[in-house]
Amino acid sequence: MVDLKTNFSGSYICTNCNTTFTAPTHCGRMMTLQDGNTWICWKGEHQPCCGKESKIELENCCDSRNLTPQIEA
Ligand SMILES: [Zn+2]
Ligand SMILES: [Zn+2]
Repeated sequence: MVDLKTNFSGSYICTNCNTTFTAPTHCGRMMTLQDGNTWICWKGEHQPCCGKESKIELENCCDSRNLTPQIEA
């Protein structure tokens, strides 16, 4: 289990097609990935407050998307 608080770069990479995804921000912080396919506000799902939804579906990069966090060395 990786400690996302210390070394997480804010990006995820698809191990299948090497597409990178950068976490959008909500309420002043990076959104977190839920179920590997949805960005969700770090506060959880809530009413849109920063001009955008608190839950955003990721765009599809390939047929077998498999996201893994990119960790800074
Ligand atoms: Zn929010
Ligand atoms: Zn992919």
